Amino acid sequence: MKNLTKILLSVCILLISLILIMISASLFAFLPIYWSILLVVLSSITFVIALVVAILLDYSAGDYECKKCGHRFKPTMRAYVWGPHTLTTRYLKCPHCGEKSYCKRRLSEFSEDE
Ligand SMILES: [Zn+2]
Repeated sequence: MKNLTKILLSVCILLISLILIMISASLFAFLPIYWSILLVVLSSITFVIALVVAILLDYSAGDYECKKCGHRFKPTMRAYVWGPHTLTTRYLKCPHCGEKSYCKRRLSEFSEDE
């Protein structure tokens, strides 16, 4: 699990670098216009891939604590992706008490090796 997180983080950083390089290159005036368009399209596709990797990375980083009963749980991917959220909370339905609330995010222990 720890290795997967490292790999996902590396992929994310690599893709973001790639996006920046492609956008920078497409801004050069000496390039033909179709090259600029191609680079913008490629960087958009890379952005979507980076977004998916970032979501997977964020999803695997921890679980959530119910505000009502204190139960800690891992939401389904669907609930995670579509749940309204702030930096530290996400609006989820608790599988224990069934209440919907802004559940607090709890990071997994870094010492555990799975
Ligand atoms: Zn609950």
